[in-house]
Parts: sequence; structure tokens; C-alpha cells
Amino acid sequence: MLLTPRPRIPRPRTRRIKAALLASAVSVCLIAASAPSPATPLGVGDRLFPHLGNPGYDVESYDLAFTYPGTNTEPLAGVTTIDAVTSARLDRINLDYAHGKVGSVEVNGVPAAFTSAGEDLVVTPAEPLPAGSWMRVTVHHTSDPVVAKDQDGGWVQTKDGLAMANQADAGHLVFPCNDHPSDKAMFTIHVTAPNGYTAVANGLPAGADRTRRSTTWTYRTEHPMATELAQVSIGRSSVLHRSGPHGLPVRDVVPTKDLKTLEPWLKKTPDQIAWLEGKVGRYPFETYGLLMAEAQTGFELETQTLSLFERDLFTEPAYPKWYVESIMVHELSHQWFGDSVSPRTWSDLWLNEGHATWYEALYAEEKAHKPMEARMKAAYRASDSWRAAGGPPAAPKGPKPGQKISIFRPNVYDGAALALYALRQEIGRPAFERLERAWVGVHRDGVASTADFVDLASGIAGRDLSGFFQGWLYGKTTPPMPGHPDWKSDAPQARKGA
Ligand SMILES: [Zn+2]
Repeated sequence: MLLTPRPRIPRPRTRRIKAALLASAVSVCLIAASAPSPATPLGVGDRLFPHLGNPGYDVESYDLAFTYPGTNTEPLAGVTTIDAVTSARLDRINLDYAHGKVGSVEVNGVPAAFTSAGEDLVVTPAEPLPAGSWMRVTVHHTSDPVVAKDQDGGWVQTKDGLAMANQADAGHLVFPCNDHPSDKAMFTIHVTAPNGYTAVANGLPAGADRTRRSTTWTYRTEHPMATELAQVSIGRSSVLHRSGPHGLPVRDVVPTKDLKTLEPWLKKTPDQIAWLEGKVGRYPFETYGLLMAEAQTGFELETQTLSLFERDLFTEPAYPKWYVESIMVHELSHQWFGDSVSPRTWSDLWLNEGHATWYEALYAEEKAHKPMEARMKAAYRASDSWRAAGGPPAAPKGPKPGQKISIFRPNVYDGAALALYALRQEIGRPAFERLERAWVGVHRDGVASTADFVDLASGIAGRDLSGFFQGWLYGKTTPPMPGHPDWKSDAPQARKGA
């Protein structure tokens, strides 16, 4: 994700009602200890989002089917089928789901009871499921494209339809899921829309069934994907095809009326992919492209194989050309850093954003003569303030109440790229470049943590770097920059109001 740099007026939000509900759920638990426990929201213990994800199973695949009613203000009809393997005996199956009506649930083809608890859909199968068994959960539900007052993300209403922006924790506002990046799975996505609309989703097309009134479009991923990276575009759009390095299919999804205006930007993608392949190795997925949405999202987002961009980023003349291109490279580099290699927890977000910022800055240096060193020196000056406001890069502060994307602070962007710069200063360019290639190679299609990065870096440098990383990733203040002892970080108070 990258916030589009323009002033936005934050909407005041409140979470008081939910907090009260949770508090009462807890007290019910205490009283009814011997009776069957009430359904409660569970999580996988993410420090920043405690109720995200669910214990007891590992999802292998999602099959999502949406029916678009032809307007983006009415709920879509949905059927979500989840194939998973249980890792514990399950009397109940918690799914994350919070923004639609559930009509019925089946577990292994048998109707199951269900209720909601917090942002979880809690399913009670007719018979408990043993550990180590396959389960298929089918949920018939609606999916509401109108954003609720206290929720960030999920469906994005565009001028001509819908797109999706689920990072960090909004996949479950669109479909029932295990909404944590540590549980990646394969996706098949079907979208039925009235004729005249075009639907595109992650992965490659796997057929389109046309009837007199509507078309069902099917897409399938060839690589596992986190729920936060799902994308579905429905609109009056055209799909442009071109060829990338080694014949990689590149496809962009563009409002049909803007085809001509946007083409000069879109045709840059194959060279950008080739540039990044030169840095870190082969592009990790089956296809890539840009989804140009006519919407005020306030950010761009690296949805897997099809990054979401605000159309206006490319049509607003105030943005310099080099800057727009470096943002294209930011989202492209996330396909390696964040998508192919997903964060183990949301505290590992710096691995996504620090690397995407790094290649964004490196591209600007090599292609537009914007020196990395000057950018990093400026980041160093601000770094202590960023740490004071948002925490150190690998132990970021939690989101502000009601603004869950507020974890996307400068400490995980330039603040984290600064830590990578320090690492390159510390171990030298050749070792740093080997590490970058190795990281996306070793953890391809996987999930990795900050500790994994420290281990790999130490192995490649041939010495224990845990002390070095402790300061750069977890320190309250910024350590001295190797090779630049003269760099200074302004005291947080001095920058207030600056
Ligand atoms: Zn980003």
C-alpha cells in the first residue's frame, strides 16, 4: 500500500459500542464456565489485530462466487466455499466475516448452525471435526459494497462499479475467510455481472459463460495468496494485453473511456518488470497489470497480479512523471515483497513497505537522478520522530481506533527503507544484493518473519547481525548510520509543528 500524498480529512469514528459488546461477552464467559461456552471471536494472536485469523485449521483453497446486481450500492449475492485441513479437533469453526447477511452454512455438505460474535462468523457443525481432517465449509451470504461507518476497506465503489482493497484486515468485509496473511491459499473467483460490464480478478482467466443477460467470469490463481490481496474489478472497463519479459502476460484493466490517456503509462510496465528482475530475480507470478480505478481511495494497493491504482494519479498534471513511475515500481515490487513473500504477522509489515520503498527510491535514483543518499539522509533526520510517533519499524504501534490502515505510517516506509540502507552500508553492496535475491527466492510463495530476515542476512554476511538489527528495527531511537557518523536525527519535539 502507498498513501497518495494529498490532504485528506479524517472521518471521526467511534468504536465504543463494539467495545461494550466485547466487554459483556467476556463477563458472560466467566459466569457460564460450566455450561457450553458462548460463541466468541477468536484470532491467531496478531499483536496489532488480535481477532484476525482463526486457530484450528489451515485453508487450502477458496472458491468465491459473486453476483453483481448492476449497481454498486446494493449487496452482491455470494457463495464462499472454503476447503481447509483441521489442525485441532473443532466443535466450532470460527471464520472472519463482518459485513453481509449469512443465509446458510454447510460443513461437508451437511447444514450447520451459525451465529456471529464480534467480527467472526461462528459455525457449529452437526458433528465435531477431528484434527487432521479435510473440511469444506460453504457459506451462502450477501456482500455489502457500502462501507460501514466504523470499517475501513473491503469493496471500493468506483464510478462505474467496484474494486477491492482489503489490506490490512478487510478481506472479511467482503467474504468469509481466515483473514490473516499467515494463512495463504489458492483462489478461484467467479463473478456474474450483467452484460456490458467486465469482471477481472487475481490470476488468469479460466472461462466466461455468457447468457442473454449476464456473463459469469472465472479467474484462478496459480500461486497461493493472502486474503488481504484479493482483487475483483467490475466495471465498464477494457482489458489491455501486452507481453512482458519471457512472454509474461501483462494485462491492465482500464475504464474504457480512458484507454488513450492511460496508455503512455501502461506501456512502461514491461520495462519496469525487467528492471526489477535485474535486481531480485524472476517475477514471481503468472501475470501482472494495473487496475485503474475511478475512485478516491487515497492509496495504491499491491493486490496480487493486479495492483490497484487511483486513475487520477495518472491524469493529475501536478505529479511529476518520475514520481508516478516510482509509485508504479513501488506496487510492482510488492509482488515480490509482501505478496509472494507474505508477512508472518502485521508487525512484519516493514518487510513489505521498507522493500517497496527501497525499490521505489532505487528506480528514482537510476532512472531520474534522484540520489538515494539524499533521500536517506532526509529520512535519517526524521527517523527519531517517526519512531516516537509510530514505534520502531518492526514493533509498530497499533492502529488508531476505527482507522485500521493507520498502521501505514512513515516508520514502515522510509523509516524501514532507512534500515535497509544501513544494512547495505554495514554488509556492503554485493552481500546486500545477494540477500535480496535470496530472500524472495527462499520464501517464494511463503510466509516469513522479521526473525527469518535477520537469520538470512546473518548467514549471507557470515556473521551474527542480530545486535545490528535490534537497534535498527526495535530501537526507540535511530542508531548511528554506518559510514555516515555525521548524520543526525532531529529530536521529536523539535519537529512538532514543523
Ligand atoms: Zn506499499
